[in-house]
Order: sequence, then C-alpha cells, then structure tokens
Amino acid sequence: MYIDSHCHLDNKRFDSDRADVFARANAAGVEALLAIGNGEGPGTDTLDCAVKLAQQHDWVYATVGIHPHEAALAKPEDFDELQRLARDPKVIAWGEIGLDYYYDHSPHEVQQRVFIQQTEMARAAKLPIIIHNRPSDRSENAWDDLLRLLREHWASSGLGGVLHCFTGSVENAKAVLDAGFVVSFAGMISYPKSQGLRDAAAMVPLDRMFIETDSPYLAPVPYRGKRNEPAFVVEVARTIAAVRGISCEEIGLQTTRNFYNFFGLPESE
Ligand SMILES: [Zn+2]
Ligand SMILES: [Zn+2]
Repeated sequence: MYIDSHCHLDNKRFDSDRADVFARANAAGVEALLAIGNGEGPGTDTLDCAVKLAQQHDWVYATVGIHPHEAALAKPEDFDELQRLARDPKVIAWGEIGLDYYYDHSPHEVQQRVFIQQTEMARAAKLPIIIHNRPSDRSENAWDDLLRLLREHWASSGLGGVLHCFTGSVENAKAVLDAGFVVSFAGMISYPKSQGLRDAAAMVPLDRMFIETDSPYLAPVPYRGKRNEPAFVVEVARTIAAVRGISCEEIGLQTTRNFYNFFGLPESE
C-alpha cells in the first residue's frame, strides 16, 4: 500500500544486499518502486541502470535522464542512448532532470541547456518529467529559473511532472502546484528542523502528493545517518500522517492511488 516514487537502487551501496533491500521493501508494504535512471552519469555505461532493474522486477518502474550534476558531461551519443532507452515499456518518466545551484557541479547555463534539451525529448517520448531543484543558500535563483523554464519549454506539453524531494517553502510548493506538478516528499520532512516542509505537506492537496525515499540518500528519522532504502518510505508517510491528522495507512493508500493515476498505470489488486 506504499509506493516509493524515487530511489537510486543501482547505487553501489546496494551491491552487497540488493535482493534483501527489495525483500524488506515488500515486507514493509511497498508495492511498487520508481527506479531513477541517472546512474553515474554520461560516459559511464550506466544510463540504462533503471531499465535493467525494471526488466528484472515486475513491480519496479524506470526513468531515464541526465542529472544536473552531470549536465556538463553529456554528449550527443548520450542523448541518442536515452532516446532509445525511453522506448522501453517500463520507462514511465524522464528524470531526474533540473537545476542544482547548491553544488554547482555544472555551469548554470549548461544545466539549463541540458534541461531544455531533455524536456524536448520527454515531450517527443510523451513522458512526464521528474524534477530535481536545489537553490544555493544565497538565493532563490534556481526556483525562479526553473519556473521560467517550465513556463517556456514544458507547460504546453500538457504532460506535467513531479517535483521530487521537495525542500522549498510553502510559496514554492504553491508555485509548483500552479505549474501542474505533483509534489513528492522525502525523508528530510521528518527532521526536527524541517518545520517548513511539514507546513508545505499540510498545504499540498492529498491528491497532488507522492512519497519517496531518494535512497540511498537522506534517510528519515529514526534511520537518519544510515543508508536509506525503500522500506523507509513508510516513515515519510508517518510524518505526513501526523501533520494531516490521519493515519499512516491512509497516506499510503492515497499516494499509491496518486502514483497509478498520474502515470496511467493499472492499480494492483
Ligand atoms: Zn534529486
Ligand atoms: Zn534522486
């Protein structure tokens, strides 16, 4: 009754016990996963990592895309490969793509160019996009730039998308919803200092939210500091449930329904 809408299961930190990680997710009530296909980036032969996992497991879906961190490494042949991979029936979204002005691993103009190029490819493939957006501590530029790029290059597609690992303000969440996006909450929402995120989770309509782990990164309380894994998505649901004054199971059911509806997938029995 839970779906982890965003995890990096290809990550090396799962190499020693990936089968156990899948089994623990099932045991915790996680019935589907969206494996993110960024891999280790262009030029590393890993852009097919999520497709491979989805081909091996019925209940795993996949994305393809180049992360903003690695935008500067993208070559024409990488885009050709993504276009090929996107035809796999288990690929249900393009991502994660977007802007990261916090780490600044790629110049802003390169991040923007690679983002725009991938929105065009997603549009051609008729896939929604999964967005990563992180501003620098000093400014809100990434939000301003992202919302402008979405208006100019994506809104007219009508395909929508997901703002993953939402870490913005209530105002940012409103802007994202107005742009037609689903807001996905991750483990940080459970951290004591994240009251702003809990305020956003109190505002976002229940039928416009997903839950995710972003495994192996940023595990929720009480696993904070450990490797994150899909079974822990229940803790994200538990935090939102407390904020909304409803049960953890209800958050699980609603976000699961949202996932199947948004991606046009048949609900499991
Ligand atoms: Zn991300
Ligand atoms: Zn991610």
